Amino acid sequence: MDNKVPELYGSLVFNDSIMREKLPKDVYKSLRKTIENNTHLDRDVANAVAIAMKEWAIENGATHYTHWFQPMTGYTAEKHDSFISPIEGGKVIMEFAGKELVKGEPDASSFPSGGLRATFEARGYTAWDPTSPAFIKEGTLCIPTAFCSYSGDALDKKTPLLRSMEALNKQAVRVLRLLGNKEVTNVTTTVGPEQEYFLIDKADYAKRKDLIFTGRTLLGAMPPKGQEMDDHYFGSLRPRVSDYMHELDEELWKLGIPAKTKHNEVAPCQHELAPVFDTTNVAVDHNQLTMEVMKKVADKHGFVCLLHEKPFAGINGSGKHNNWSVSTNTGVNLLEPGTTPLENTQFLVFLAAIIKAVDEYADLLRLSVASAGNDHRLGANEAPPAIISIFLGDELTAVLDSIVNGTFFEKRKESMSIGASVLPHFTKDNTDRNRTSPFAFTGNKFEFRSLGSSASVAGPNTILNTAVAESLKQFADVLEGEDPEKMLEAVTSLVKETIIKHKRILFNGNGYTDEWVEEAAKRGLYNLKSTPEVLPVFKADKNVQLFTSHGVFSETEINSRYEILLENYCKTLHIETLTLQDMIYKQFLPAVLKYIDTLSNSVIARKSVSASITTSAEQKLIEKLSGYYESITELTEKLHDDTDKAESISDILEQALFYHDVVFDDMNKIREVADQAEPLIPEDIIPYPTYEEILFYV
Ligand code: ADP
Ligand code: MG
Repeated sequence: MDNKVPELYGSLVFNDSIMREKLPKDVYKSLRKTIENNTHLDRDVANAVAIAMKEWAIENGATHYTHWFQPMTGYTAEKHDSFISPIEGGKVIMEFAGKELVKGEPDASSFPSGGLRATFEARGYTAWDPTSPAFIKEGTLCIPTAFCSYSGDALDKKTPLLRSMEALNKQAVRVLRLLGNKEVTNVTTTVGPEQEYFLIDKADYAKRKDLIFTGRTLLGAMPPKGQEMDDHYFGSLRPRVSDYMHELDEELWKLGIPAKTKHNEVAPCQHELAPVFDTTNVAVDHNQLTMEVMKKVADKHGFVCLLHEKPFAGINGSGKHNNWSVSTNTGVNLLEPGTTPLENTQFLVFLAAIIKAVDEYADLLRLSVASAGNDHRLGANEAPPAIISIFLGDELTAVLDSIVNGTFFEKRKESMSIGASVLPHFTKDNTDRNRTSPFAFTGNKFEFRSLGSSASVAGPNTILNTAVAESLKQFADVLEGEDPEKMLEAVTSLVKETIIKHKRILFNGNGYTDEWVEEAAKRGLYNLKSTPEVLPVFKADKNVQLFTSHGVFSETEINSRYEILLENYCKTLHIETLTLQDMIYKQFLPAVLKYIDTLSNSVIARKSVSASITTSAEQKLIEKLSGYYESITELTEKLHDDTDKAESISDILEQALFYHDVVFDDMNKIREVADQAEPLIPEDIIPYPTYEEILFYV
């Protein structure tokens, strides 16, 4: 098998080498030009590409095509059309033209638009994104597209991402020119997202309404053993899981997704998959596909793949580390300390730009990872805290200190200056010890660690790119006014000033401690704990200014997204509260009663043997369980009423806050009591699998 991997890899992708092979030379050339420089694609070229694409797709078993897009649901959407076109004699031919490749018009009235598209104007259209290769999935040619309303407003996650990449490209090239770099014509960001997930048995899943309806367990006492022994992390793979991972790799490879690393994670049943990084929009598409394929392959192996951020309380949840860097079309990673004075100047300027961006737009970065699911992680003792800060590691911090203070950089006994011919190479060992930081420099890239496992990585990267584009723009504006002869001095003072101004965002210590929370407050850093608390920052003046000035979101698009995010939060909580009530009334309380019944019968039976037999043990248990029964009933009644109240609130922000402050709190209180009662009840009476059964018998 293994020696077939190169052949298998990308076999379902209309990638560059296939295009080169299948397309007439001039067509290939103009397509490349479009891909590289974002230029317009003319009709004839589109037609020629469509024909080649169709032929290749049919050769590979496809009968249908679809415009594959990423609406605001966070999932991907597709509507399949077959290639067939009837001809005389009751026959068909397979047809696909340039106009179908380039543009589609799905009736998209049911996708969330946050009021952007009145239902009478339901038409949206999809536009081909030639920078992300087409692929075949289950007999359908999938064409990656952006999705917009008829008036041109973005209705998806890809459009703003592409805009943000363009914004960063434009400003980065400006800065590089000013630094004296004459070669680079294009700068792009790269992303490698590490995807965490849980695999549980399908049969267990099918018996838990909470998992089915909400993706997480709403009840469940911890088993005697959790993850405290750390025996699962990097442990050897059980055969069933290993088979799954093997097939997953193969399916991903066929789609040209460079799945690279796989291992067990900290929690039982938790695993991780990391690909080799790629251009950001391709990485985003690939991550969406990866999540989809993970679920499909799981199903074939009798598993369910859980991508929720916190499927099980009390053990680690799942995140997605977003490794991010910036590289040039000349093949230079700008976050890699280089070997020439120019490269090192570039490195330090981009580093300073990122530090400034993260400090000024920490609120937006926090927003970019906000969801009901991720609220369970951020700030809890496993994921990074809700406070955004940057970890640089001691060595890089020392280099920056040396630049700021003009002091010696100890390791080299010299002062580090901008334009230095050498900078130390910050190896992973030096930089990656701190796993508590939300935004860590890891040698030649930053790792944004706050992302939730289920969400698209488009949002966080859109915001990161835009914020950095803004820093670079300001840098370029300043440097453009300088005398080219004195550029090095100007750059030096720019970097110095930037670091001095934004050093409050730098923190190398342990982000999990209370001291850091206090310290961060003193430094004036944001600590936005929940989704409803963070969402309003989207509409803050400085943020609207950022997005509109770089053409990433219009004000209308911001408002619509704000609405969608709030709605999504409320809907999620609404489903959770209904599911919990259902489980409590139909499953949990009846189980408690049933056991009380059993115990009472036992009391009667044993008493009937002899009056001298003591039944105080059963009676004590009955008393305890009755106590739980009553308080759960009372709490659930309150939950029911509070849910009604929540639903009656018309202001969406107020509603979200009420869901968070009241309804969510009610749910947690019910759970607390139920989780105390559960261990007292025999397994065969509890009508769904417990944590123990789910987590330790895969
Ligand atoms: P870990 O963080 O688990 O120790 P690695 O550092 O090996 O793992 O890599 C994590 C991820 O970072 C991988 O997906 C890798 O492809 C990605 N990565 C490496 N270099 C870059 C880069 N220049 N840009 C974006 N992602 C990168
Ligand atoms: Mg990592």
